Amino acid sequence: MNVLILGSGGREHAFAWKIAQSLLCKKLFVATGNAGTAQIAQNVNISLNDFANLGQFCIDNQIDLVLAGTETPLVEGITDFFQANENLKKIQFIGPTKAGAMLEGSKDFSKAFMRKYGIPTATARTFDKDSLQEGLAYLATHSLPIVLKADGLAAGKGVIITENREEAKQILVEMIEGGKFGTASSKVLIESYLKGIELSVFVLTDGTSYKILPSAKDYKRIGEGDTGLNTGGMGAVSPVPFADEVFMHKVEQKIIKPTLQGLKAENIDYLGFIFIGLMNVAGEPYVIEYNVRMGDPETEVVIPRIKSDFLELLSLAAQKRLSEAKLEIDDRTATTVMLVSGGYPEDFEKGKVMTGFEKVNSEVLAFHAGTALKEGKILTSGGRVVALTALAENKALALEKSYKAAQMIDYQGKYYRKDIGFDLA
Ligand code: ATP
Repeated sequence: MNVLILGSGGREHAFAWKIAQSLLCKKLFVATGNAGTAQIAQNVNISLNDFANLGQFCIDNQIDLVLAGTETPLVEGITDFFQANENLKKIQFIGPTKAGAMLEGSKDFSKAFMRKYGIPTATARTFDKDSLQEGLAYLATHSLPIVLKADGLAAGKGVIITENREEAKQILVEMIEGGKFGTASSKVLIESYLKGIELSVFVLTDGTSYKILPSAKDYKRIGEGDTGLNTGGMGAVSPVPFADEVFMHKVEQKIIKPTLQGLKAENIDYLGFIFIGLMNVAGEPYVIEYNVRMGDPETEVVIPRIKSDFLELLSLAAQKRLSEAKLEIDDRTATTVMLVSGGYPEDFEKGKVMTGFEKVNSEVLAFHAGTALKEGKILTSGGRVVALTALAENKALALEKSYKAAQMIDYQGKYYRKDIGFDLA
């Protein structure tokens, strides 16, 4: 099969690494890819919102399967575009249609969906410019802390949590009237705060059958001890010790099954991944958010634990034969530590020469994120630069390997958190 992966982060490098190992894979392309994917696939320089050219590329290169790594093209309707085109609709496409992608694209939609289908989540109300005064009045009596969420996509930055009621009012006004997150915050959810530990659960579905992939915990804040600004993710661990059989049974019964039944009831033919961001509140799972693709950096620990042929799994899903697929999971623990550019997630410089990859233990997987190749050199080209994944019998041994690799790679301004997995048993 000829395969095209859409995206350019560590997640897409991990997908490419796994798919390249499949005996079913003939040619592998990544749009737009990075210096890591360039080593195992052919990078394609077509923007992900240029559906027409991506489609033409698929025709020209006889692509059999497209895997959407990242959400924006899905929310903008790339799947619908492929389905509506006579020459493209036979291509197996992993990623939901625009209607399904609303689960991620609109927090108001997903909250209403969860409410309708009885899926446990924090209570919330949505306000816009016509109901701003009501929103301010609602804040006056809302319990603390207060969670304010922009309805639309805001690159992981659209959620603000505050203990200060006056600040919450100011933020609400800035979001709705001041366009703090552009049109994404023309509607804002005011949500109650869930206290607990977070984890990410991943499901692959063909619309009817589903497979639950390994769960993972990511570390979102820039600073050690979960302090400082939110990032795209600074590291991850899989499995999550508290996601035991009892907990996962609750997740399946109370969340996964009703979610899939709800999608069916809404006539949404969902094919692809559902990433469920959960809070474990005293042993009970509550949904924080849905995403319509895998997580990054969670993919960098989930994919290396999948022993089965991942391309076969995807292809069976695309043929609505997922029930026939086998999913074999490695019992070992996977950890990943993300190296980032100095200054990230605020301003940072790019173009720093990276060295030391050859010194990294060959057992460690260096999944590139923001890197680029220039005149034979690997340069930093983004905030998050490379995810160093190791597998071992336990978390401590895996972390030791990831951290050793983190010391080997060098570039000006290198930063990483030294406490990934610190809070897990
Ligand atoms: P991302 O895309 O980075 O996952 P997002 O912008 O889509 O994030 P959410 O995942 O909904 O937004 O929220 C971001 C973070 O804010 C969550 O990972 C969680 O730590 C925190 N958070 C969100 N909602 C709540 C809540 N109701 N109670 C407690 N914490 C919350």
